[in-house]
Amino acid sequence: MPYRILVTGGAGFIGSAVIRHLIESTSCEVANVDKLTYAGNLESLTPATDSERYHFYKVDICNAVALSSVFDEFKPDAVMHLAAESHVDRSIDGPAEFIETNIVGTYCLLEATRRYWYGLPKTDKDAFRFHHISTDEVYGDLEGAVELFTETTPYAPSSPYSASKASSDHLVRAWQRTYGLPVLITNCSNNYGPYHFPEKLIPHVILNALSGKPLPVYGDGSQIRDWLYVEDHARALLAVLSKGKVGETYNIGGHNEKRNLEVVETICELLDKLVPLTAEGDRGQTHTYKNLITFVADRPGHDRRYAIDASKIQRELGWAPQETFESGIRKTVQWYLDNPDWWQRVLSGEYQLGRLGGQL
Ligand code: NAD
Repeated sequence: MPYRILVTGGAGFIGSAVIRHLIESTSCEVANVDKLTYAGNLESLTPATDSERYHFYKVDICNAVALSSVFDEFKPDAVMHLAAESHVDRSIDGPAEFIETNIVGTYCLLEATRRYWYGLPKTDKDAFRFHHISTDEVYGDLEGAVELFTETTPYAPSSPYSASKASSDHLVRAWQRTYGLPVLITNCSNNYGPYHFPEKLIPHVILNALSGKPLPVYGDGSQIRDWLYVEDHARALLAVLSKGKVGETYNIGGHNEKRNLEVVETICELLDKLVPLTAEGDRGQTHTYKNLITFVADRPGHDRRYAIDASKIQRELGWAPQETFESGIRKTVQWYLDNPDWWQRVLSGEYQLGRLGGQL
């Protein structure tokens, strides 16, 4: 396992889970390189931020000079690259930032890494790893009911988000092939769990339900996604970083294919049990959160189905998810019920105050 790990996007949903895991379960030194966009929230990192092994650099990955300073100061043994613009709807409304961060930013990071890596002594150079974290959305839409994405499925991205991630995957492979940079790539399915920004489907539905607002479902809700609990993803990433073979791609998934409507209905059923609505009306019908479900116009270019074949990582690295969808979604709903301080500060914008920290 590398000892000094530079994580980009460590204040985001998955990056914060990775850093919490690294600080709690390993003895690694961790540098979090994050620009703190709207999606970055340092409050997702407590209590890891109290550790002396945690270091924060408020840096944009498109800033080549600042990135080089971080490399020279922190001297990483590995990079885990998670910084990205990640929300498909935002990429449809405004693709420019997706091109800038996901493509240009990945290029800048690869070049900063290459310059630093060239200067390392031979043994450190051989042990160094650049781990690029990507998505199953690069493979596009699965039309058949039985087909699964494997590591050799051709790329066919549909949205500006997935096209920008596909581009970044190609850049990373090219830097290995051309310059010999020791890279690892992972493509993962939809994540869910604690500290998920409320614009994404699962937290959006939980929080809207709790405040009695409509629960929007795109189209007829029949789009299928594979769901993975975020802490299972963090464990998979550490398995790949410590045991993965250089130049290889590993698909990561939860074996949990669900229709979007099914996901929303499951959340409603959990809330019906955990925070029951009072009986209403003269016929004594019981309210259910399902009454809040509202079908809205579908997203343009919306992929119908994603499903991952994660057998390679299981076979070669011994990783398998610990949570089923049923156990993970229960934990997630309970987490939002137990942590109103976190999400209320996100909804009010207060989480963006006090962001003056950082070393560069
Ligand atoms: P997120 O949007 O929650 O977090 C992204 C983080 O990157 C934020 O902290 C943000 O401040 C930071 N960032 C954005 N632009 C930056 C820049 N120019 N410089 C430095 N930092 C910047 O994203 P996430 O859901 O945690 O996803 C992390 C990675 O995993 C992304 O690369 C994403 O494509 C990939 N991924 C996500 C999912 C998912 O379901 N969320 C699934 C598979 C893969």
